[in-house]
Amino acid sequence: MSAEVRDDNPYSRLMALQRMGVVANYQDIRNKAVMVVGLGGVGSVAAEMLARSGVGKLLLFDYDRVELANMNRLFFRPEQSGLSKSAAAKETLAGINPDVQIEEYEYDVTTMENWDHFNDRIARGGVDNTARVDLVLCCVDNYAARMAVNQACTEQNQAWMESGVSENAVSGHVQLMLPGRTACFACAPPLAVATGIDESSLKREGVCAASLSTTMGIVAGMLAQNALKLLLGFTEPSYCLGYDAMTDFFPKSLMRPNPDCVLPACVAMQQHYGGQWEPPCANGSGQDGQREADDEAVVHETNEWNISLSEHPDVSDAARNENNMNHLEDEVQMPEAPAAYGGFHPEEDENDAADDDFVPPHAATLEELQDELAKTQLAETQLAEEQLA
Ligand SMILES: [Zn+2]
Repeated sequence: MSAEVRDDNPYSRLMALQRMGVVANYQDIRNKAVMVVGLGGVGSVAAEMLARSGVGKLLLFDYDRVELANMNRLFFRPEQSGLSKSAAAKETLAGINPDVQIEEYEYDVTTMENWDHFNDRIARGGVDNTARVDLVLCCVDNYAARMAVNQACTEQNQAWMESGVSENAVSGHVQLMLPGRTACFACAPPLAVATGIDESSLKREGVCAASLSTTMGIVAGMLAQNALKLLLGFTEPSYCLGYDAMTDFFPKSLMRPNPDCVLPACVAMQQHYGGQWEPPCANGSGQDGQREADDEAVVHETNEWNISLSEHPDVSDAARNENNMNHLEDEVQMPEAPAAYGGFHPEEDENDAADDDFVPPHAATLEELQDELAKTQLAETQLAEEQLA
């Protein structure tokens, strides 16, 4: 993976993350193997993001075929209709980045006949084909497959991430599962799983789930971003991160494992870790601890505009999800406001009468501001013409 800045180097912009101090060792992505179970609107897009990010190996699992009804989402193309999603995905991803090793399997991970092979690929599917994979991404659309991935990963103490988009296509989530340390999928199962309902009986005749490429793309981005954070060790990964398009809400939380979980392997893993595990952010040694320290000093001494960040209770969660929020005040370049807006000019006397006439932009309508700006530009043009005359 060359760091050379050249137009024909596909990795130069990725290696810039290392030069800028975001990631300590970006090349390490070449040593990482990621399994993607389910190549629908989330899994296929997350796989493409990881391939473009230079991941060493992808192991793809799906038993569905590409259909024209999938074309409202990203990734697959109409001419791939009828192909297996795993084969079509391998072909596309190999074309995008031939450096990525790709294994593709067209089978259902919930069936007994595939169980041993699926577990073997977790245990020995690493880039060298002997070590375990580094991460499993679960991007399926049913509970049975989630429970199967949950059981395999929990029994093998394999880190994995669950993802999902709601049936009405306007919300979704990603969740990092660290066996014995964070809740597994069975620790707090959805009602349909807890009550043992056959989920195929939940589907209504003639009604299919909605899907939007936008929501699925956002959730795929959240999932791939979280995968990169975990694989490359930059900042704290998200444990549970939700997205609600209707209110622009990104709730974030961490679920502890349930000591009474129905999955014996989960209880055994909890005993193995003895309840001792804490996420790095919980003890102040991680990013969050640093963020709290930064929060106390919001206004710089050199901040002549006295800009400060305020926290609105309705947006605090969303704002807190931005790990780089604290850098905003360093990076935002404030343009000088046009005089027509009563703009404050630092070189002017603080007692200048113009300040008393200041009207904040949000008090006027856009049309009024545009009128004011047009008048000012006209006046400035006239002044310039008079000076030239
Ligand atoms: Zn559990």
